[in-house]
Amino acid sequence: MKAAVLERRGEFVVRDVPDAGHDGWALVRTRAAGLCGTELHIIDALFEPPSYPFIIGHEAAGEVVEAPPGSGLAPGQRVAVYNMIGCGKCRWCRSGNTQICTNPIGQLGFTLNGTFADLVAVPPENLVPLPDGVSFEDAALLSCAGMTAVHACRLADVAIGQTVVVNGIGGVGLMLVQVARAAGARVVAVADADDKAAVAEQMGADDAIVLGDGGFDAVPDHIRELTGGRGADHFFELVGTSASMAAGIRGLGRRGTFVSIGYTPEQLSIHPIELILSEARIVSSVAASLVDLEMAVQFAADGRIKTVIDERYPIAEVAEGLDRLRSRTVKGRNVLVWDGD
Ligand SMILES: [Zn+2]
Ligand SMILES: [Zn+2]
Repeated sequence: MKAAVLERRGEFVVRDVPDAGHDGWALVRTRAAGLCGTELHIIDALFEPPSYPFIIGHEAAGEVVEAPPGSGLAPGQRVAVYNMIGCGKCRWCRSGNTQICTNPIGQLGFTLNGTFADLVAVPPENLVPLPDGVSFEDAALLSCAGMTAVHACRLADVAIGQTVVVNGIGGVGLMLVQVARAAGARVVAVADADDKAAVAEQMGADDAIVLGDGGFDAVPDHIRELTGGRGADHFFELVGTSASMAAGIRGLGRRGTFVSIGYTPEQLSIHPIELILSEARIVSSVAASLVDLEMAVQFAADGRIKTVIDERYPIAEVAEGLDRLRSRTVKGRNVLVWDGD
């Protein structure tokens, strides 16, 4: 099969590799896989894979090729792939929180060979059947950005009538805008360009702040202007620079929640008094549970969330897609697509 292989730090190629396969697991023919900022972190060795060569990619949807007997899956079935493979035994797995498993088998595209390949092997319980109205491309985005947005909103306890700020209008940000709206919140998007703010508004943001000359330092004041001086109830942080994280905490109202999701090599540095006096909270959110993915798929089937896809690439052109991601010019998500029969 063809796969996008990281040969060593910073260097990847598309080449033939042995077909994926694993005893007792299902085999999925990949039909769509999203290009996510995480791939850049892995290529740059902010996360280093356990060994090289390593197949990148952690978002996918496709068709079941083979499934173990008794799994309830049939060849040809359309599925989204949940990429976190827990031990199934620890208290976090047993309570449905595989994303914080204490002894994980691994995660596709992070510690196990990933999804930028013609075939992907995965435990059958990690496959979420797709309703007819949800395309492979939609499902590939739901398997990272969509489920991450659902999980973060649930962890943060977003409630009706609250003001949610979403900082960073990429794949996850556009999903968060829609999920927070579905939860009954008023949504303010923070974008680094006018066209990204416009997309956020098309997807349901009530207001948008476009970063100007003041950069992130000006964002807390903008948030207060939009909230009658109160500040945000939730600030979902997808950018993760020191300046953007400080702006998020300073933009919170009383008992506001800063939700840490995106990151860079930069540190979060803030004096605790800035949190204490307003009884602010910090919540962090990593990926999602299988149930969050199921919810995201149902939301998409119900038309409550829509995906925004910018460019489609065959696997041979994965480098071009990643370069565009690095240049921060992608509106929504770029996806790899494979032709069907
Ligand atoms: Zn992702
Ligand atoms: Zn576990």
